[in-house]
Amino acid sequence: MKRIAIVGAMHEELRALLDAMPDERPVLRAGREFWVGHLAGQEVVVVLSRIGKVAAATTAALLLSEFDVSRIVFTGTAGGLAPGVNVGDVVVADALLQHDMDASPLFPRHEVPLYGRARFATDATMSAGLAQASRTMLADLGAPQARVHCGLVVSGDRFVSERAENDALCARLPDALAVEMEGAALAQVCHDFGVPFAVVRTVSDRADDHAHVDFNRFVAEVASRYTLGLVQHYLDKLPAP
Ligand code: SAH
Repeated sequence: MKRIAIVGAMHEELRALLDAMPDERPVLRAGREFWVGHLAGQEVVVVLSRIGKVAAATTAALLLSEFDVSRIVFTGTAGGLAPGVNVGDVVVADALLQHDMDASPLFPRHEVPLYGRARFATDATMSAGLAQASRTMLADLGAPQARVHCGLVVSGDRFVSERAENDALCARLPDALAVEMEGAALAQVCHDFGVPFAVVRTVSDRADDHAHVDFNRFVAEVASRYTLGLVQHYLDKLPAP
């Protein structure tokens, strides 16, 4: 039976997931602890990716080559870009793109050279399951005003914390819902390996001049409860192993 990988970018989220695992044991690879065990009755491996595209790509490549993984779920937080994507909402990616990839004029802006594409689609079944799990989690945690959005999430090696940068991203990528720092890297690696994946992000800030304050408050107070809740609901609904 192949395992489901749950990857998080931040310590707070990892801690919440590990606390809910009855039997986790660490396997050390490339300076990371891959926690193998069970969560909500499923066989899982849970790992902290660290922050940024390279860290996420290394983590994904190790999971896929060494941990007998059938699919990968990436959880974390993101900055809201599109109007109406507010702090406390959840965004489930249907595709990911590297907003800082630019080999123009050799290739169109954002296209990953030699892949012939800028966007990497997530697995539709996993994404639908995570969207449903997110709605259940928000209702459980008493946040009925929070919304679950599905669409494009963009990634780059920048914490977007200025209104001007946010405006530029929205102008260049008008359908982008949210920005973060890992998802599109994971997407490219999963594409290479032919393994399904999904990315779910809770919105910690609006990627504007207040982003660092909002981000820190959200991570401290909310992020880990959201992540644990939605991951448990998602795993609960899967067939028993
Ligand atoms: N102080 C934090 C740094 C986190 S960097 C720490 O040491 O853990 C921000 C993380 O949240 C990244 O993993 C990124 O994917 C996500 N994120 C949240 N808001 C973001 C924004 N406005 N721009 C880019 N990434 C954001």
